[in-house]
Amino acid sequence: MEKKYIKLVKFIQDLYKDQNTVILHAPVFYGKEKEYLEDCIDTTFVSYVGKYVTKFEEMTAQYTGAKYAIAVVNGTAALQIALQLAGVESGDEVITQPLTFVATANAIVLAGAEPVFIDVDKDTLGMSPAALRSWLKKNVELYEKNGKIQPVNTSTSKRIAAIVPMHTFGHPCRIDKIKTIADEYNIPLIEDSAESLGSFYKGRHTGTFGLAGIFSYNGNKAITTGGGGMIITNDEHFAKQAKHITTTAKVPHPWEYYHDEVGYNYRLTNVSAAIGVAQMEKINDYLANKRDTAEKYALFCAENGIEFIKEPEETRSNYWLNAIILKDRKERDAFLEYSNARGVMTRPAWHLMNKLVMYQQCQHDGLSNSKLLEDCVVNIPSGVRL
Ligand SMILES: *Cc1c(COP(=O)(O)O)cnc(C)c1O
Repeated sequence: MEKKYIKLVKFIQDLYKDQNTVILHAPVFYGKEKEYLEDCIDTTFVSYVGKYVTKFEEMTAQYTGAKYAIAVVNGTAALQIALQLAGVESGDEVITQPLTFVATANAIVLAGAEPVFIDVDKDTLGMSPAALRSWLKKNVELYEKNGKIQPVNTSTSKRIAAIVPMHTFGHPCRIDKIKTIADEYNIPLIEDSAESLGSFYKGRHTGTFGLAGIFSYNGNKAITTGGGGMIITNDEHFAKQAKHITTTAKVPHPWEYYHDEVGYNYRLTNVSAAIGVAQMEKINDYLANKRDTAEKYALFCAENGIEFIKEPEETRSNYWLNAIILKDRKERDAFLEYSNARGVMTRPAWHLMNKLVMYQQCQHDGLSNSKLLEDCVVNIPSGVRL
């Protein structure tokens, strides 16, 4: 292995001196988490009723600039519900990217549809608007049905029901261009912004460009609630529906139990939301700390001839997970081997979705950038430092 990578491992160990094994993204709780959790227990509001869920939703709406935020049990559930409310039905197709966490593709299938994988851009690691346009041009025509313009895949005769780009590792993709194309084809846009809480594209928060966006608060994300998710939207009807369907479709009433459709129990507990409120109170500190780490990595990598992935132009990334690009799979594996053996957690990007057994039959557009990134990208430790 080249000397510069040995130096990098040493550099990471120095950055995270306080950790014996340097975790990829350990959660931190420097705020009022314990105080709020104690409040939950003292007041007995540990379950689905309590003030923290509403508070967490309000803080998220305010922080992101979205009009509405609906807390749910996890990010996968958030995406599934967002897709269903966007009109995704059994037998539809939904366009996404192959370079993503499996939850993106799973949520599409849970909503009844089949994913179609479109390549990513090399600099943003997110869906490529050029690749998207080119695939749509080749495969999709607009038909009128029931007085509505429907985008239909001419080779499968299936409707394209949504486009789901993902902001990889927190770096915003070219979301305004994707939005323009989605509008041209009359396809709803749902952003998988699970990784990009605190990331902005041209000053606007990720997740607010389409009909809805979602966040995840899994333990390794930028902030955590143990496990949790959020749907954000500017559409009042969509927001009301999202709250209703994720809370067992119960019609609000002080004592009556009346439910007007089959609903989900996708509610977030007050306990999780209490942690979320405390985390949101500290989010600016945490993101400043992570940005400082990213700047240190960028400088080190520039000085040592290592390719470091920086936030794309005109964006502000939360730098959820820092990443470097190695020469090829062989060099990547040698680095993974070396760093992990020395207690520095590193990992490759995900296996591309179209290579997983359940998604091997799905349509894709060749995916040349995704394949390259799958071979060469490595995430390096990125959690908040003491
Ligand atoms: C984390 C994540 C999700 C949601 O994960 P949950 O564990 O269900 O909260 C969805 N999409 C992407 C890209 C993610 O990274």
